[in-house]
Amino acid sequence: MAQRILLASGNAKKLAELRALCAELPVEILSPADLPHGLPDVVEDGDTFLANARKKALAAARIATDQLGGDVWALADDSGLCVDALDGAPGVYSARYALLGAAEGDVDGGNAPDGSNNEKLLHELQGLPAEQRGAAFHCVIVVARAAAGRDDAAAGHDGVEGSATTEELFNVDGSVRGRILEAADGEQGFGYDPLFWHEQSACSFARLSGEQKAQVSHRGEAVRQLRELLQVYFGKEND
Ligand code: IMP
Repeated sequence: MAQRILLASGNAKKLAELRALCAELPVEILSPADLPHGLPDVVEDGDTFLANARKKALAAARIATDQLGGDVWALADDSGLCVDALDGAPGVYSARYALLGAAEGDVDGGNAPDGSNNEKLLHELQGLPAEQRGAAFHCVIVVARAAAGRDDAAAGHDGVEGSATTEELFNVDGSVRGRILEAADGEQGFGYDPLFWHEQSACSFARLSGEQKAQVSHRGEAVRQLRELLQVYFGKEND
């Protein structure tokens, strides 16, 4: 029987990408819309991409198992931009960077528009020469499952109400280095793409097609690792 894997995100692009990735594998990719009572938002309050992805994956595995029963895995990702000159900021706050100063300490209040985040980043780096504008995108993906009957002490805890304890199965990560431009360049992509100069591509990420970006991006690298792990896992399972 196909292994059910819930994608802990309502993002239609990520869903299509994951389904395509798993087309040859004995897995069925579910979205939060497949849960009778839906998937509540998880507060992303971790210090690292891994902590946030892990929290989302563990919570989703617990909720999916409670709502659907049986053996359901969950997959979650977290990603962002880390700028050298800003000691790694915006980091886990990438999606809400422009809101940080406005509401000190209140980082749970939703995301800021990409344009505002980019403006803030340009402002923070104003006057810095190219050689001091180094940065990296990072992406972490975590796969978790409910571990019914497992000893609590051995399983993960996500702070979400529910009957099943959960455990992480595996995680992968990808990163790509570049530098932050002094002005936006290009129309494609999303987030910080127009500001991210990728030396090997000799252009900003916002000048790459989706396919070109996937070949060099943090997310592309993480997804390729995920595919390899799933292939090994299901290859072994099917022996
Ligand atoms: P999420 O992990 O998909 O929620 O992304 C977090 C935030 O990181 C996004 O809102 C963007 O601001 C930033 N980010 C992550 N990946 C990319 C990328 O590939 N290009 C541009 N910005 C990105």
